[in-house]
Amino acid sequence: MGSILSRALAALVALGFAASPAAAQTDDYPRRAITLIVPFAAGGPTDVISRIISDYMSRSLGQSIVIENTLGAGGTTASTRAARATPDGYTIEMGHMGTHAASVALYPNLAYKPDVDFAPIGLVAGTPVLILAKKDFPPNDLKAFVTYVKGNVATLNMAHAGVGSVSFTTCLLLNSILGVKPTSVPFNGTGPALTALIAGQVDYMCDQIVNVVQQVQAGQIKGYAIGTPERSPALPNVPTSREAGLPEFQAQAWNALFAPKDTPQPIVDKLTGALDKALDDEQTRKRLLELGSVLPGKAERGQQALAALVRREIDRWTPIIKAANPTD
Ligand code: ASP
Repeated sequence: MGSILSRALAALVALGFAASPAAAQTDDYPRRAITLIVPFAAGGPTDVISRIISDYMSRSLGQSIVIENTLGAGGTTASTRAARATPDGYTIEMGHMGTHAASVALYPNLAYKPDVDFAPIGLVAGTPVLILAKKDFPPNDLKAFVTYVKGNVATLNMAHAGVGSVSFTTCLLLNSILGVKPTSVPFNGTGPALTALIAGQVDYMCDQIVNVVQQVQAGQIKGYAIGTPERSPALPNVPTSREAGLPEFQAQAWNALFAPKDTPQPIVDKLTGALDKALDDEQTRKRLLELGSVLPGKAERGQQALAALVRREIDRWTPIIKAANPTD
């Protein structure tokens, strides 16, 4: 009898122990630093957006957010690591249109499913994509660019951040519209790719606006067109692809935060709340807007809106990528 009682007591105590730390883990989250995996090199658009948004989020969460640049395979190495991380809220990822949409069609054996293996936290920023070239690239407008690239493709190099990246995918779209296949030069992010473009070591590139506003304004590189229906207030002199005569080039990328799936809902909610606050913060908004980001309105924020965006973007990019035959 005594032993039954003590076993029952022990079981109760064990239950109590099992339940309370779990509750405590979500209630007082975060109790230590959070790692934010950035799938590209420091200094590029994904890295810069991550640093701006985590700066505010860490202050409102009361813990530091440590950026970990995990490089390789167009951002898919990092996303695999994020998908497999312990789902406790202490490892999250800044994904984007490449890692969480385009990579599905570009990697037949992708080790994660962007729409299944993550708990979406929320959209951080829309990032229009521009067609760019080194400053002494001969053409001065998009029409001349098209003619020049078609006529000289055998000698041209196109920079990108790896198969699966935004820069790879959007220039794949551009090249397929033009019917060209230049030599492609991969970097670990468009931060280093931009350095090579400024130095004239590569000829052209497609990239997210947040990487290039200053450099286009300063004339260090050429910006031929922006792949969105409207011009960007951050670069008002760069025409839209429609205005410049290439309306088929529609390329708006985005960055968004993801946790591994099975991260406890109260923790994901805290992260979503902190992101929401950051997106309402005047200083954070100013920093992102100056770089040409398009900030999500209330309806585009949050977990469900991001889940829907990921599915829509997989559906949008898969046929474009298949039609462009990236493996040819
Ligand atoms: N913008 C890059 C891309 O092409 C990556 C980066 O953020 O460095 O996906």
